[in-house]
Amino acid sequence: MKSKFHPDKNGYFGQFGGAFIPELLYPNVKELEDNYIKIIESDEFQKEYKALLKDYVGRPSPLYFAKRLSEKYGAHIYLKREDLNHTGAHKVNNTVGQILIAKKLGKTNIIAETGAGQHGVATATVCALMGLDCTVFMGEKDIERQAPNVARMKMLGAKVVAATSGSKTLKDATNEAIRFWIQNPETFYLIGSVVGPHPHPDMVARLQAVISEEMKWQLKEKTGKENPDTIIACVGGGSNAAGAFYHYFDDTDVELIAVEAAGLGVNSGESAATSQLGEVGIIHGSKTILMQDNYGQIVEPYSISAGLDYPGVGPLHAYLFESGRAKFMNATDKEALAAAYELTKIEGIIPALESAHALAVLPKMKLKNNQVVVINLSGRGDKDLETYIKHLEE
Ligand SMILES: *Cc1c(COP(=O)(O)O)cnc(C)c1O
Repeated sequence: MKSKFHPDKNGYFGQFGGAFIPELLYPNVKELEDNYIKIIESDEFQKEYKALLKDYVGRPSPLYFAKRLSEKYGAHIYLKREDLNHTGAHKVNNTVGQILIAKKLGKTNIIAETGAGQHGVATATVCALMGLDCTVFMGEKDIERQAPNVARMKMLGAKVVAATSGSKTLKDATNEAIRFWIQNPETFYLIGSVVGPHPHPDMVARLQAVISEEMKWQLKEKTGKENPDTIIACVGGGSNAAGAFYHYFDDTDVELIAVEAAGLGVNSGESAATSQLGEVGIIHGSKTILMQDNYGQIVEPYSISAGLDYPGVGPLHAYLFESGRAKFMNATDKEALAAAYELTKIEGIIPALESAHALAVLPKMKLKNNQVVVINLSGRGDKDLETYIKHLEE
């Protein structure tokens, strides 16, 4: 079934998307574009993908009724437990799928970018699983602040290359990965979110769609209805939100809420709330909304959470925002930290800092007693313990 939130044949969601790539990359991107849907929809792929999701990733991820959180906020709140996946976040749904696609295309060298290191770890993991070469580009600053994930990637056999330009974070790692890709077009660029040139945003959304596919039958089992009233997810590039929203795009009775990182405050100059601060432009191969100055230069984003510290959103989210289909909210560093401590105290679940942003909008919403809310708990907080401990003392 075709939704208006699926891209057209040129990869556009409304005015957003497309493939703004140098000529050298064209054959590689075209090869993927010509084959990805055929591969994803084939019985062979589906069988392998579903088997790995079940036995390797540990899916279906539970849909957990958070009783004490529900009592506190006066609604029926469910958590989609992506934090329980192998490697600790939703990212692996995508890397398992893309590695199978890469193999079907005969690719043997994999490259990826990473911010917090979650996507790098998820990519290094599936490369180890398949015996493929893996190079991960990571900002020098992120290499310092995410040491445990760097160690994991190395142990998994990946080569970690430092991006030393700009702010030395995710955007610069992505630039570096794209530069390498142009010089080595035969490598497979395993992108970690619904960003980049078409067909990457659509491919990643399709691979993360398993989240809402499961939500439908899990909600039916638990509440008698497939549709909740509200779904909340945090947005960096937008892949966990895309997965959580995917099977509900056209169910307009379901409110979709995307939560961006406001850092020290939306207008503080230290923020990553792209929909509020951004304008239309081109970043990493697609037309979307991004934070830029009057000269079209990218404004450095800031968030306490490395996974949300990105100056753009994927083209699907730019369209969800522009069309009003999703409501965009945001949470500051402080609000996210408070939400993480709260979930830990009252449910015994330590969330990733990224996911804590989704939880942090609960106090700002006017919830009704019988309102069914699903929060996509995109990852677990192990990687953020140092940050949590540091701020606990403040
Ligand atoms: C990477 C990451 C995100 C942000 O990426 P999206 O593509 O927006 O989902 C959110 N949560 C966790 C746990 C992550 O690792």
